[in-house]
Amino acid sequence: PIYFDNHATTQVDPRVVEVMLPTLAEIYGNPSSVGHVFGEAAKELVEQAQQTIASRVGAEAGEIVFTSGATESNNLAIAGVLNQRRRRGDHVVTLTTEHKAVLDPLEQFEQRGYRVTRLSPKQADDPMAGLIDVDQVREAIGPETALVSVMLANNEIGVIQPIAEIGRLCKEQGVLFHCDATQAVGKIPVDVQALRVDLMSFSAHKVYGPKGVGGLYVRKKDPRVRLQPSIFGGGQQRGLRSGTLNVTGIVGLAEAVRLGVAEMESENARIAQLRSQLWAGLQERISGVHLNGPPLDDPRVRLAGNLNFAVEKVDGEALMMNVREIAVSSGSACTSANPQPSHVLRGLGLSEDLTRSSLRFGIGRFNTADQVEIAIEVVANAVAKLRKLIA
Ligand code: PLP
Repeated sequence: PIYFDNHATTQVDPRVVEVMLPTLAEIYGNPSSVGHVFGEAAKELVEQAQQTIASRVGAEAGEIVFTSGATESNNLAIAGVLNQRRRRGDHVVTLTTEHKAVLDPLEQFEQRGYRVTRLSPKQADDPMAGLIDVDQVREAIGPETALVSVMLANNEIGVIQPIAEIGRLCKEQGVLFHCDATQAVGKIPVDVQALRVDLMSFSAHKVYGPKGVGGLYVRKKDPRVRLQPSIFGGGQQRGLRSGTLNVTGIVGLAEAVRLGVAEMESENARIAQLRSQLWAGLQERISGVHLNGPPLDDPRVRLAGNLNFAVEKVDGEALMMNVREIAVSSGSACTSANPQPSHVLRGLGLSEDLTRSSLRFGIGRFNTADQVEIAIEVVANAVAKLRKLIA
């Protein structure tokens, strides 16, 4: 099968593997063991990685905390703010279309008495479907609001939210702002100053790095940004996240981000071209296909590699079963650990049927035009076959 599920995860780039290997059997010291050269060499690698990442997102090295991935980063950001003794109240603003790694921790806090406002983005019948209206965020923020959490790029429909505007708003109102930038770092330009985020999550395995490692940007200069740790122990990373550092993963994360940023412009142009080819081919071959999410032709509002569409008059599960030569993901339950149809598509007001018969492509670094031609063929044949069965 051909891999088109690059929003779920990505193949580790061989160039990333290359820089990770020496950390396994050669530079294997514990970066906290600063009494000898083994530890010092590892510490230097970690510091270099911090510097590499920080400089690619407009941060300072000391503002990057390493975690096990974006799920942990989101949890650390949310719990870190909400468990801290607060200057403000117990209210949080987020979107219905956030990743579960934001929504579920917030639900835990809601059960403990916090108030969570979940804003709906523009609906499926709007040309800018998926985008949040900044005025809605403005209206939702009140004197009790402790935190706003909005993602930069969505993992299902690729929509890019107006984070800089929301960041400015939060700054004006004195509210802390967390951004889940997991699908954005290394794929589109990200600058924590321009975006005015206080906390920002990212992960290696979405950008051709290894699984199980990610980071959280924590704005240092602002004394309001103090986090309660979630993991206690040896006091690594200024006590914010104890545990021996995952040197191999951290080195891989940094190289993945470095490559992503260095090649972003040409890569996005190439990937956008592949997506145009894919969408044109699908529309030509299949009747009744509907784009989910914002327009494809505006790189300011949608990730280059994302295509998500609903197919009328087919059963979603049957469609997935019949496109097994390509690895894509579905709006129905069968591809996820979560047995619900996509909450993001449902959050756009899409019917349950169209949600279930939606397919998500994440076109990535290792995809080619020939593969796209095959994908068009596979999906078109599957739809034709299924429609014939019910005709
Ligand atoms: N946030 C977003 C937007 C994602 O796409 C993902 C990936 O599933 C995550 C968070 C979770 O990241 P990780 O797998 O690194 O925990």
